[in-house]
Amino acid sequence: MLSRRHHRAALFWLVCACLWLTPVLPPPMALAGARDARPLIVIDAGHGGDRLGAVSADGVAEKDLALTLARRLRRELLRHPVRVLMTREADIHLELEERIELANRVRADAFVSIHLNAMPGARLSRRTRGVETYFLARWASGARAQKVADVENGSESAPLREVDDLAFILDDLMETAAHREASRLAHGVHAHLVAELGARDRGVHQAPFRVLRGARVPAILVEVGFLTHPRESRLMRTAAYQRKIAASMARGIVEFLAAGDRFPQDTKRPHRAGPVASEPRS
Ligand SMILES: [Zn+2]
Repeated sequence: MLSRRHHRAALFWLVCACLWLTPVLPPPMALAGARDARPLIVIDAGHGGDRLGAVSADGVAEKDLALTLARRLRRELLRHPVRVLMTREADIHLELEERIELANRVRADAFVSIHLNAMPGARLSRRTRGVETYFLARWASGARAQKVADVENGSESAPLREVDDLAFILDDLMETAAHREASRLAHGVHAHLVAELGARDRGVHQAPFRVLRGARVPAILVEVGFLTHPRESRLMRTAAYQRKIAASMARGIVEFLAAGDRFPQDTKRPHRAGPVASEPRS
């Protein structure tokens, strides 16, 4: 009789063989018929309701600015042949898991969670500004990445999912494919933000974010700037800077979709995105 370990290994190879014969993560409409073949983006405004997120010295909450930016990003994206779904449109509480579950359920082509960063302490907060972009990993890529994940995850611990062997293996493989794509999405969006905002480049990192956990679609979390930095905080409240944030994120997302052949053949090609500076900034 096969031991549980052998049984699991056999299942693993069986699933690998099946997946090898089928394209990994096909565009959602390839399976659903030709109802609407435009790629679907899920935009998630961080926090909401009683979860304020970070708060600036003069009382502006992350949840409100994140929603404003999410709306602006939607407007920018809708200039292209894509569909957009928002996890929230108002100041409501949503569990972190609900957000990514929505993206999984609609088989989104990309999930983008918008946040604003914070640095505690008067001295550090005056010095710390810039853009950080994250995608999910089991382990953080550094102490700072883990700290950001801890803040965004909140104090609750996530319940363990009960899954059987096959579901576990399938999840694992789907998540691996989504993880590779998420890395590409994260680097693309980040490069556009840094280049077009002229913001400080604080890098692309990996960390175990609860809002990204279980993602079976390419999912990223963007910290577009620091609410605790006096100048950056003021800048992020101006309509001009908000439009720049939204436009540069949209260009990164559209490039990701085009490079992954996620636009249907019969739609006109998306607008060419602007150039991206590749030199690191200090
Ligand atoms: Zn946040």
